[in-house]
Amino acid sequence: MPSYQRPPGTQDILPEDQPYWNRVRSLSKHLAELAGFERIDTPIFEATEVFARGIGQGTDVVDKEMYTFVDKGGRDLTLRPEFTAGVVRAYIENGLHVEVKPQKLYSIGPTFRYDRPQAGRYRQFTQFNAEILGEQDPAADLEIMTLVWDLYAGLGFRDLEFQLNSTGCPRCRPTYVKALKTYYEKHDGEICEDCQRRLERSPLRVLDCKEEQCQPILEKAPRIIDYLCEECAEHFSSLREYLDLLDRRYVLNHRLVRGLDYYTKTVFEVWASGIGAQSALCGGGRYDGLAELLGGPETPGVGVAVGLERIIIMMNELGVKPPAPARPDIFLAYLGRAPRKKCLELMAELRRADVGVYFAMGRERGLRSQLREADKREVRYTIILGENELDSGKAAVRDMKSGDQVDVDLNLLVTWLRERV
Ligand code: AMP
Repeated sequence: MPSYQRPPGTQDILPEDQPYWNRVRSLSKHLAELAGFERIDTPIFEATEVFARGIGQGTDVVDKEMYTFVDKGGRDLTLRPEFTAGVVRAYIENGLHVEVKPQKLYSIGPTFRYDRPQAGRYRQFTQFNAEILGEQDPAADLEIMTLVWDLYAGLGFRDLEFQLNSTGCPRCRPTYVKALKTYYEKHDGEICEDCQRRLERSPLRVLDCKEEQCQPILEKAPRIIDYLCEECAEHFSSLREYLDLLDRRYVLNHRLVRGLDYYTKTVFEVWASGIGAQSALCGGGRYDGLAELLGGPETPGVGVAVGLERIIIMMNELGVKPPAPARPDIFLAYLGRAPRKKCLELMAELRRADVGVYFAMGRERGLRSQLREADKREVRYTIILGENELDSGKAAVRDMKSGDQVDVDLNLLVTWLRERV
C-alpha cells in the first residue's frame, strides 16, 4: 500500500483517460458556442452565503454536503457545489444584466460535495453548466434542453428521453402544497420520518422520497401540473409542443421537483441506466426568483448542469471510443556529444515548425535502448544521428513500420518530415 492515497471520492484522471475527457469537453464547448453561449469562469470558492441562499437552506447540498472553511482573513468560504449560484452572483456583480438579453453563459469545471462516494458519485466531480439569463420564453428552456440532448446524441448515446415536470411558481404552488399536505395528513402514521420532517420544511421534497413505505402513498398523491396557474400551464404546454416539434422525447414525471421557491416552472433530468445507484446524467430547470434573492434585479433564468464523470462511465459502458490523442510521430536518437547537441537543435526547430518530436533523454545511452523507446512510443520515424552522419551532413531516417532507412540532408530534414507527418 503506498503511503499516500487520494482522498475518498476523488479521482486521478490518467493520460489514458484523457481522450474521453477531451472529447466531452470539446463537444460541449463546440455545441454551446454553436448555440451562442459564451464562456464564463467564476471562482472555485465563493462566500458561503452565495450558496446558502442560492441553493437554499433545507437542501441536502447546503445542509450536509458543502466543503466550508474559514480563511486566514476570517472569511466564511465554500468550494462550489454547483455553478448556478456563482454565475448569477457574477452576472449581477459585473452588470451583465445591462448587456444584450438574454445572456447565454456556459462553464466547465470542478465542483465539490461531501457526498457518500460510490459508483458515479464523487466528492470532487466535474460539471458542464449552461444558463440563459433574462428570458422567460419557453424557447429558452427548449434551447437548454436541446443543448444537453445534442451533447449526449453527439457522443453516441441512444434512446434518449427527458424526465419532465413543471413545479409552478410562487403564485400557484402554495395551492398545490396545501393540497399535498392535506393529502399527507390523511396518511400521517404511514410515512417515513424524513417525509414527516419534509412536510414541515420543504414539502415538495416528499415527492422524491425513495423509502418503500412511502411509495403507495406517493402514487396517489395530487400532481402539481393539475394546479398550475394559467401562465405556468401555458409555458409548460408551449415547451412540450416545442419538444415534440424537434422530436426530443420526454416523459412526464410528477415526482421530479426542486424544493425551493425560486425554482419555478420547468424541471428536467436525463437518466441513464447502469451507473451504479446514480442515474441522473444531468439536472436542470428554471429559477426565475434566484437573481432577486441574491440582491440583483428581477431576472428569469433557466439552466442545466451535466456531470462529466457519469458521461464518461456511459461512454465506457457503451463502448464509445474517443479519438486517439495526438502524440509526436518522430523520435530523435543519437550517439555522441556533438550529435546530441545537433538533435537538441533539431528538436527546437521541429517544434517551432509545429512538428511533434521526442528527444532521447539520458546520457550515454546505447542506440538499441533508444530504438526500443522509439518503438514503445509508436513513432513513425526515428532520426538517427552519429558522428559519421554529422560529418556527412545527413541524418539516417528510419521508417519504424517497414524498418527501411534513408539518408536525408540535414538542411532539408525539417521540410522532409513536415511533408510526411
Ligand atoms: P444536481 O445539481 O444535483 O442536479 O447535479 C447535476 C448533475 O451533476 C447530476 O445530474 C450529475 O450528473 C452530476 N452530479 C451531481 N452530484 C454528483 C456527484 N456527487 N458525483 C458525480 N456527479 C454528480
